[in-house]
Amino acid sequence: MSGEYDVVVVGAGNAALCAALAAREKVARVLVLERAPEDEAGGNSRFTAGLMRVAYNGVEDLTRAMPDLNAEEIARTDFGAYTEEQFLDDMARVTEYRCDPDLTEILVKRSLDTVAWMRAKGVRFTAAWGRQAFNIGGKFKFWGGLTVEAVGGGPGLVESLTNAARKNGIEIWYAARATDLIADDDGVKGVRVRRNGKTTHIRATSVVLAAGGFQANPEWRARYLGPGWELAKVRGTRFNTGDAIRMALDIGAAPVGNWSGCHAVAWERNAPEFGDLAVGDQFQKHSYPWGVYLNAEGKRFVDEGADFRNYTYAKYGRVILAQPGQFAWQIFDAKVKAQLRDEYKIRQVTKRVASTLEDLVKQLDDVDADAALKELHAYNAAVQTAIPFNPNIKDGRRTEGLAIPKSNWANTLDTPPFEAYAVTCGITFTFGGLRINTDAQVISTDGEPIPGLYAAGELVGGIFYFNYPGGTGLTNGSVFGRVAGTSAASA
Ligand SMILES: Cc1cc2nc3c(=O)[nH]c(=O)nc-3n(C[C@H](O)[C@H](O)[C@H](O)COP(=O)(O)OP(=O)(O)OC[C@H]3O[C@@H](n4cnc5c(N)ncnc54)[C@H](O)[C@@H]3O)c2cc1C
Repeated sequence: MSGEYDVVVVGAGNAALCAALAAREKVARVLVLERAPEDEAGGNSRFTAGLMRVAYNGVEDLTRAMPDLNAEEIARTDFGAYTEEQFLDDMARVTEYRCDPDLTEILVKRSLDTVAWMRAKGVRFTAAWGRQAFNIGGKFKFWGGLTVEAVGGGPGLVESLTNAARKNGIEIWYAARATDLIADDDGVKGVRVRRNGKTTHIRATSVVLAAGGFQANPEWRARYLGPGWELAKVRGTRFNTGDAIRMALDIGAAPVGNWSGCHAVAWERNAPEFGDLAVGDQFQKHSYPWGVYLNAEGKRFVDEGADFRNYTYAKYGRVILAQPGQFAWQIFDAKVKAQLRDEYKIRQVTKRVASTLEDLVKQLDDVDADAALKELHAYNAAVQTAIPFNPNIKDGRRTEGLAIPKSNWANTLDTPPFEAYAVTCGITFTFGGLRINTDAQVISTDGEPIPGLYAAGELVGGIFYFNYPGGTGLTNGSVFGRVAGTSAASA
């Protein structure tokens, strides 16, 4: 045995560090175990833009999380509101009414308060003007419920949480991989951890598991998500291989949720196998609502304008993976060039430019060029050009008569230069995981809480199914990390 702690937290991402900080409010000896070495620590949380979905009734609510907002910023911004009802509706709708109602209510109702709590711990937030607001007549107008982002994005978030943990006397071990839970009939008593090639046993009154999903494990991906998923690229950390899920299942924890489901997006076709911290989330390619997709057969295969990007991007990675060769091209013309997100400007893109559609299709690697040209002409002819284009609303500017419609923002491709970007499927995180109750206690297959065991974040099941409203992953980790830490420390 190596030492004795009140609470041991497995992982050092957002959920874990929130759990550790909450536990430390009640108990003295808190240890964080992080599998990654320090320079790669912070999990998927570090790869994010730091965007957090928070329910609020107006700017006065937001100032709890962002006390630094000044009068000039408030005057030039229409923050609107994103009520608890809207957040609950979004969760229900995108998960096709599968999300656990009790957990979802906690996620939504504690979102603002938790972000304000993080602010008090030293995490600074700002309004996501650059990402989630349109400038309309000189005033920024927020849309889609995503208003708050951590200063410094994911790296800034992890750094400030880590600093707060250190300041509060929380011990962090890096390159320390938890391998098993130590448990008997009375519950969990500690964890086994491998560090510097040696296995150590750590005693703890409670253990909080916050070690992410299994998306970085190709064998589990093929096993649970289905054939072909081993071919997806991992958008974030290589360390989330399902360890903590397996550790809990081994001692009788109940699996729950959408085990064959995951969050997956359009991602640079030639991106590396795992995320690259120097590039962060910029391999994503999220401007498809302004253009069209083509697959290897030269065919469109999805309604690019079905809904706002925030409500479709997380499920379209799966659709791309299902295409022949697991890739697609996004096609735009010069009319929407200024609207393309920053990620289209990075050096590491697979991009083609041409002054005619005829030339463009010939440059699309691995695509049937003749079929592609025919498809683009058919698309252009189907656009209802009498309906005005408006990116700020679901404008109803659609196609008519196509087998695969485009329901909003359908622009003709007629203004050179034309641009094409190659994408594949990038997996973000898996949806299936451990069953918890509203105190974040892990539930056994017999339906009872496992004494001493808590969980939060990506490895919890039952919250996301099929799809996901953008910016909810961090909020989920923070809210349930805080609940788990508080419960674990009260045990
Ligand atoms: C590119 C990208 C962009 C994203 N953008 C956003 C966004 O803007 N907003 C948003 O809300 N969500 C976003 N997400 C999703 C978000 O990252 C996750 O939902 C969230 O960070 C999960 O937090 P977590 O603490 O549960 O897991 P993580 O942050 O992944 O932390 C898990 C930790 O556990 C550690 N670990 C794993 N196994 C072990 C073990 N055996 N022992 C010890 N430690 C272990 C890992 O090293 C890691 O540090 C994005 C994800 C990616 C990949």
